[in-house]
Amino acid sequence: MGYTVTEKILAAHLVEGELKRGTEIGIRIDQTLTQDATGTMAYLEFEAIGIPRVQTELSVCYVDHNLVQSDFRNADDHRFLQSVARKFGLYFSPPGNGISHQVHLERFGLPGKTLLGSDSHTPTGGGLGMLAIGAGGLDVAMAMAGKPFYLVMPRIYGIKLTGRLAPWVSARDVLLEVLRRLSVKGGVGYVMEYFGPGVAELSVTDRASITNFGAELGATSSLFPSDERTREFLASQGREEGFVELSADPDAVYDQVMELDLASLEPLIACPSSPDNVVPVREVAGRPVAQVLVGSCSNSSLRDLMVVAKTLESREVSRELSFEINPGSRQVLENLTAAGDMLTLVRAGARVHQAGCLGCIGMGQAPPTGTISLRTFPRNFPGRSGTKNDQVYLCSPETAVAAAITGRITDPRELGAYPRFDLPRRYLPGDSRIEPPRDGAEVEIVRGPNIAPFPEFKPLAADWQGRALLKVEDNITTDHIMPAGAKVLPLRSNVPAISAFVYEAVDPEFVKRAREEGPGLVVGGDNYGQGSSREHAALAPRFLGVEVKLVKSFARIHKANLINFGIVPLTFADPADYDKIKLGDLLRIESIRAQIAAGAETLTVAGEGYTFQARLDVSPRHREILLAGGLLNWAQAG
Ligand code: SF4
Repeated sequence: MGYTVTEKILAAHLVEGELKRGTEIGIRIDQTLTQDATGTMAYLEFEAIGIPRVQTELSVCYVDHNLVQSDFRNADDHRFLQSVARKFGLYFSPPGNGISHQVHLERFGLPGKTLLGSDSHTPTGGGLGMLAIGAGGLDVAMAMAGKPFYLVMPRIYGIKLTGRLAPWVSARDVLLEVLRRLSVKGGVGYVMEYFGPGVAELSVTDRASITNFGAELGATSSLFPSDERTREFLASQGREEGFVELSADPDAVYDQVMELDLASLEPLIACPSSPDNVVPVREVAGRPVAQVLVGSCSNSSLRDLMVVAKTLESREVSRELSFEINPGSRQVLENLTAAGDMLTLVRAGARVHQAGCLGCIGMGQAPPTGTISLRTFPRNFPGRSGTKNDQVYLCSPETAVAAAITGRITDPRELGAYPRFDLPRRYLPGDSRIEPPRDGAEVEIVRGPNIAPFPEFKPLAADWQGRALLKVEDNITTDHIMPAGAKVLPLRSNVPAISAFVYEAVDPEFVKRAREEGPGLVVGGDNYGQGSSREHAALAPRFLGVEVKLVKSFARIHKANLINFGIVPLTFADPADYDKIKLGDLLRIESIRAQIAAGAETLTVAGEGYTFQARLDVSPRHREILLAGGLLNWAQAG
């Protein structure tokens, strides 16, 4: 039986286990990336592991999230990260240089390599034919220390592309269609692998938009083959020597297959407040718009901004809205400027910002109350924009610019002829601010007063008892658990301080209750922990005394993060038992330590007048980590 591209890359990097679906495997990681919001903690963890220099082929420390310097905190963290990169042998991409995923695609990603990133949109690299996976910061710290990355061998979802996209329809619409069909849970346990004749119709940046947005399917990763278009892209970046061809064997077997005719797609849009709430743009056309943002790691490449600029030639932006451009990278900015398209954007009325995440993570750009904001971003979870009860729609750059012109949601096909333009055969590199690794022996790490030491956690007790500190519904995101935004993100390197905001949007009394009544557990529904890879969504609740999470089902990265911080991730054997638990109930699990050590897959939970079974679906290695009280304790003991 032949191999898919995913299996070929996994086989070439396998260090533990075998490529058997559903079993745990360990793989060698070639490259890592961190962004600042998760990276600051990842480097504190790396320091705690005690390795003097990163052991990967290449590791990059990006600053792209916490760009607003309204006090010393973010500025101090930037200096901390720069000094850490110098000390431990990483590349450093400073603030203003761009979003990690866009810069990594341009300057570092290579087909056939493995990339582990402390950000859930790391699969952007899959556009280049690399296996790029998002994980918690502690997993990335372990990979930087030369340890394998462990994951459950995924199933492979083959998406066969045929045909060619029509004018005004672009890569964003491809994944919106996949989300419409599969939902935000549809990719859980899978790598989404694209194949078929339609692949050749998509550029590497188009492919990267698709693999990036694929994170919203809950997939382990997404990737494309590496072909002539890949070689062209690498050549345009002056990196052709890194090209290798990669495609699935003709007799490769996919666990599922979906066929998608690119020619059949029309402009689509995700309505508030979930990326899978997708309808054709024409169905919501005419709704007034107060803000249009083009940017984010999903859609801020040179192609995306050029299509916007070319559409705006001889047109103006509506005065009824704010139209903002967040370039993906300094390279995008340089090339856009050199091509003259920056002038078009500025003259048309765009507010052009520095390269970075900005409003995508609530770092400014909050929309006005009660208005519609159209964004080319990957997420529209409630409140992520920074405005309560926001109405954020997700769409392509084409649909975004159409709304910017008319002031209303507009099917871009109404604008007439689709603009034609050529991308550079050779990009200006735009990497003058990236610092290469150096010999860090003499470097002192710079720590501002905001950086608190990594908290210590105790090993798992013999018996467990605790109160139900919170009970939540389905599809709770990491934004619900650990909010982001300009107020909270600067506290990322200070666990005691950031923990004061845990579940703030869900239940403002949670923190007080956890402090007074903990330790305890959180009860949840399906797809608990979807969204970003932020490990603070596990670390901060653990700091507050959450030792068990009991839900109907978990999102992959969040479950891994819970284990890494010693929180026991249980699921209801019978989901109907969810209804038995009331807020404040005292629950007990006798001999939890001995049972987990013995490999028990089902634990009996005793509540107030009821008992039920809960499942613990983890690997033997995970059991050791849970007993130790977390991955860091486990690694230090080993
Ligand atoms: Fe940055 Fe938004 Fe991409 Fe996250 S999803 S990396 S916040 S641009």
